[in-house]
Amino acid sequence: MNERNQELLEFIAASPTAFHAAENIEKTLQRAGFERLCEGHDWHLTLPGKYYVVRNGSSVIALDLPERFEGFHLMAAHTDSPSFRLREQPETESAGLYTRLSVEKYGGMLCSSWLDRPLGVAGRVLVREEGKLVTRLVHLDRDLLLIPNLAIHMDRSANDGKSYDMRTDMLPLFALSSSGAKLDKLLAAELGCAEEDIVSRELSLCLRERGCVWGAEEEFISAPHLDDLQCVFGCLQGFLQAGAREKAAVFCAFDNEEVGSGTRQGADSAFLEDTLVRVCAALGKTDAQYRAILAHSFMVSADNAHAVHPNHPEYADTCDRPVLNGGVVIKYNANQRYTTDAVSAAVFTELCRRAGVPVQRYSNRPDIPGGSTLGHISMAHVAVRMLDIGLAQLAMHSAFETAGARDTEALVRAAAAFYSSACRITSDGIEL
Ligand code: ZN
Repeated sequence: MNERNQELLEFIAASPTAFHAAENIEKTLQRAGFERLCEGHDWHLTLPGKYYVVRNGSSVIALDLPERFEGFHLMAAHTDSPSFRLREQPETESAGLYTRLSVEKYGGMLCSSWLDRPLGVAGRVLVREEGKLVTRLVHLDRDLLLIPNLAIHMDRSANDGKSYDMRTDMLPLFALSSSGAKLDKLLAAELGCAEEDIVSRELSLCLRERGCVWGAEEEFISAPHLDDLQCVFGCLQGFLQAGAREKAAVFCAFDNEEVGSGTRQGADSAFLEDTLVRVCAALGKTDAQYRAILAHSFMVSADNAHAVHPNHPEYADTCDRPVLNGGVVIKYNANQRYTTDAVSAAVFTELCRRAGVPVQRYSNRPDIPGGSTLGHISMAHVAVRMLDIGLAQLAMHSAFETAGARDTEALVRAAAAFYSSACRITSDGIEL
């Protein structure tokens, strides 16, 4: 396995929730010399300068500001993935024998992929500590839970298309009820606090299985959360590798994409706009100058794309059908669910060509509406030139997803090329 994929899989294993992903991004930024800005304080910036802002502990925006810049080059990806959220008091008895944990869907997952495999629990917990409430991240990284299938003998139609009832089918088994086991007891032991000091929780189920590179020539990579941590990782590495040149480099990792982004820290919030406005104000720019800077800015929204499926190639478009290891995917949609247009596609394609990074194209099959993503949502708040890209993958929203092992590096190189480019778009043409 190459070093890049090894690092990606380590990042994914350490990021079972958006909170953990944001914390790991923050650690990476700190190691690279970035300084945290608090939204509740005044910002004093110097140029050149490296800064980052965190909102809700689950979204991060990092800025690498050169001495002089006329625009921002932004890349955005998302920290969250579909999973099952635990109820505040999740223990529920079944058949007078078992304790299960009650859960609710977060996002749209492939339910079957969560069955019959050991699961852990991760998230954040608010704990009473010396008269204060303190946020603690927790990861019960042990074989703790499992959602058992019903045997084929009891459900002969199980292979004929199955619908899953959230009240019954997807509840993980936790203990025999005779044990009186409580999740809070395990959380308290993990956190080194008293059970009664746990005040509230935001916890999700997470897969125990580690990611791997596999295939006859190790051409595939599989792991939980490749959508969208593969893009988060690739964009962040490209961001750090490139360093700021003529444009200010901005890396965004947003939470809550899987539930529509409409939260205080999601792409459909003022988080990005607030940050860019405040950066410009702290540098003494006027409102008109801020708007001129936006006119010279360019954003790449990075979220994975569907590869042609080996067993069901008929679901792919006949023309724009990306393959694993085919390079970075540019995503198109006539109805602008993806923000790519001819200008933004030309810029990105040319940057990739010069960097020796292969690109390929994706459109939904015309009769199958696709999902939307960060790009057009961010556009409503910060209207800059934009395109949507991603990496080709199979089994999107499975608990264990598959992508091309060579594509991670392609995205890192594409991101570095994008961040280092000057890209001036004028009526005479585009200079890169
Ligand atoms: Zn995604």
